[in-house]
Amino acid sequence: MKITSAVFVRGVTNEEDMIYDDLPQVAFVGRSNVGKSSIINSIVNNKKLARSSSTAGRTQEINFFLINNLMYLVDLPGYGYARGSFTNREIIFERIKWYIFNQNKNCNQCKVVFVVDGRTGMTDLDKDMYKFLVDNNKKIFILINKIDKLNLSEKQKCLNSIKVIIGDNNIIPYSAKMHTNKDMLIKILFLKN
Ligand code: GDP
Repeated sequence: MKITSAVFVRGVTNEEDMIYDDLPQVAFVGRSNVGKSSIINSIVNNKKLARSSSTAGRTQEINFFLINNLMYLVDLPGYGYARGSFTNREIIFERIKWYIFNQNKNCNQCKVVFVVDGRTGMTDLDKDMYKFLVDNNKKIFILINKIDKLNLSEKQKCLNSIKVIIGDNNIIPYSAKMHTNKDMLIKILFLKN
């Protein structure tokens, strides 16, 4: 599948603006700065589509991108920004949970790409979020990003440590910077549930 069009639809913070139509949604969940925006930009081959920034925690919106007029990529706010206030962190966690609950109610062709930083593996916050997603019956693909920063043995160590936690779930080693495994990811995005 080739990506022929990618359009930012809107950033959502409340119920009225939520998008519920017949199209599938693939949501990207992960810590702030893990590279979600960069991954979306790499998928659509546009460095500017999703805002990417080294200033973590900047956005609290749920950003919808329409791809090929066939599906939405949904960039959820990143959690775990160390310098954010407690309230801010709570808002982000609650917003992610709210989206996931709504997705379950309104969208039966929806899945989650759960993004982990290959340099850190799954942190405690990642494990909490992963458990929440599993408990809510989400179809989850684990994407290990920034593998361009790892050598072969670090990569293997990271994969092994994550497999212990997630078992046989699908793992995609990825680099938004080098576009590693981009074709595999695009195929997964368009898989029918
Ligand atoms: P987000 O907060 O999850 O949306 O993260 P961003 O997409 O803004 O990325 C955070 C930082 O990580 C930026 O400086 C990116 O350039 C960098 N980054 C993202 N993906 C990769 C990757 O695959 N490899 C490397 N080396 N850096 C990356």
